[in-house]
Amino acid sequence: MARTVSVGVDIDALVHYHRIHGLPEGRASNAAWRDALPRFSEMFEALGVKATFYAVAADLAIPGNADRLRALVAQGHEIGNHTLNHRYDLTRMTADERVVEVGQGRYRLEHAAEAEVVGFRAPGYNVNADLLRDVAATGHTYDTSVFPCAPYYGVKAGVIGLLGALGRPSQSIVGTPRVLFAPRAPYRMDPNEPHTRGDGLPEFPVTVAAGLPMLGHAFTALGRRGAVAAAQLAARLHDHVTVEFHAADLLSLDEDRLEPALAAQRDLRVPLARKRETFEAALRALLDGATCVRLCDLRLGPPNEGARA
Ligand SMILES: [Zn+2]
Repeated sequence: MARTVSVGVDIDALVHYHRIHGLPEGRASNAAWRDALPRFSEMFEALGVKATFYAVAADLAIPGNADRLRALVAQGHEIGNHTLNHRYDLTRMTADERVVEVGQGRYRLEHAAEAEVVGFRAPGYNVNADLLRDVAATGHTYDTSVFPCAPYYGVKAGVIGLLGALGRPSQSIVGTPRVLFAPRAPYRMDPNEPHTRGDGLPEFPVTVAAGLPMLGHAFTALGRRGAVAAAQLAARLHDHVTVEFHAADLLSLDEDRLEPALAAQRDLRVPLARKRETFEAALRALLDGATCVRLCDLRLGPPNEGARA
């Protein structure tokens, strides 16, 4: 079976990083949309990648962002739903609040992008059966929020605990450890237990190969050679690889003159050129001998069969 690779970018505006790190929200800039998106589309153009950009609908209130979304569509990219307000506590909301976050997010993004939106990615990778029922009921055809990676789970729990101890409670929440036992390959979810196989909505987990997640900031941390080795390993172990970037992966604290306190986000301190080179090399390794396919174009066969383009 031919290998497939899907590449996604979560357009998390810097205000969300301010929230995670307990910084004032008023000083956050629109650099994720204004500066990072053109860099991603240029890199994808050079690699022949058609990607999926998961957007937060509330960010459309900033002038120019709807045009930026349409520009991505015109280049052949898919737009996915990253909710209305990027609330990390979706799984703890009331049913009414939750369906607004999911349904209004999709509706507003479709309206602004003038394109169909069928994919969903939850903020902070937190999903449960109630949330995914809403995702399916509001017209999405797939979810890509499951991230079965123990190191990430441990780090996130640690950061949140530390901030709480420092009196700067983070708005991110840890979620269920059951995610660690979720299937590694694309699968249909059990509607009552989304981290196990069933006959429900297709799930495309972010690929983790031998503990190494196919994530932009993991590539940055590994450096060029390490990222290429991780990508080659993922390509060998997985028929389908889902890669996830965040807009901030192509931002730089110094070069983009971002809020200095964001230095807590260590990958923002790495020079842009080095990150771009690392990402390109990793993506080339993944794409070697594989077909690049947007998740909206990927179909899942019956349970226990792989994905196909
Ligand atoms: Zn996000």
